[in-house]
Amino acid sequence: MSVAPDCWAVMPAGGVGRRMGASKPKQYLELLGRPVIEHSLLPFCEHPRIQGVVVVVAADDARWPTLAGSDQPRIVTAAGGKERCHSVLNGLNRLAADAAADDWVLVHDAARPCVTLADIDALMAGVGAHEVGGILALPLRDTVKQAGPERAIESTLARERLWRALTPQMFRLGLLREALSAALADKLLVTDEAQALEQRGYHPLLVPGGAHNIKVSTPEDLALAEFYLRTAL
Ligand code: C5P
Repeated sequence: MSVAPDCWAVMPAGGVGRRMGASKPKQYLELLGRPVIEHSLLPFCEHPRIQGVVVVVAADDARWPTLAGSDQPRIVTAAGGKERCHSVLNGLNRLAADAAADDWVLVHDAARPCVTLADIDALMAGVGAHEVGGILALPLRDTVKQAGPERAIESTLARERLWRALTPQMFRLGLLREALSAALADKLLVTDEAQALEQRGYHPLLVPGGAHNIKVSTPEDLALAEFYLRTAL
């Protein structure tokens, strides 16, 4: 009988959140009395299949050590990089000290505080024994336009085949590390993990996620996140 590989999480939290225009990075803004990142971390720390979490924080981040739970034994930290993809690779490299190349790693943005245990379960069940891995994603509902110069519409895209990529994204640690390292060596600043795999010719799976799993990028998003968290209480 084969033993299921372990699962781990990497949480990039090294961004400065320029679009928010706030005094602190978005993962530290207050949401229902707690910093955004504490909400994002909780389901990963509670999930029975997740062995540990690498939180990737900026080198000069003085807030992280003051957070409730930052000293939990299941959490370790790695240093953030210039872009999200550099931060994720630093996190994967740190994880490789504790995890096997065949283990699964779930990468989740610290700025997505409404993720639930059920979302993690859905991704794990959807990916199952898939040879590459997969991501939570949402099919597009709106009609989608491609813009040309001066915002003139060039065309309408076939929305039936378009999905929005969410996190968590779940891959084998070794394969993801290799793919992300290769993308960065080619100076390709991938904006999610799946893109690094796509560049290597792989076809990760789209696993339907929930509309509640938003990324907090603007002040309006913070209000929406509060609504979703209250609804889930
Ligand atoms: O800026 P963006 O919305 O892409 O950020 C997504 C996540 O990546 C956030 O949790 C942010 O803190 C993180 N990030 C990072 N290192 C960077 C930039 C962003 O860990 N250099």
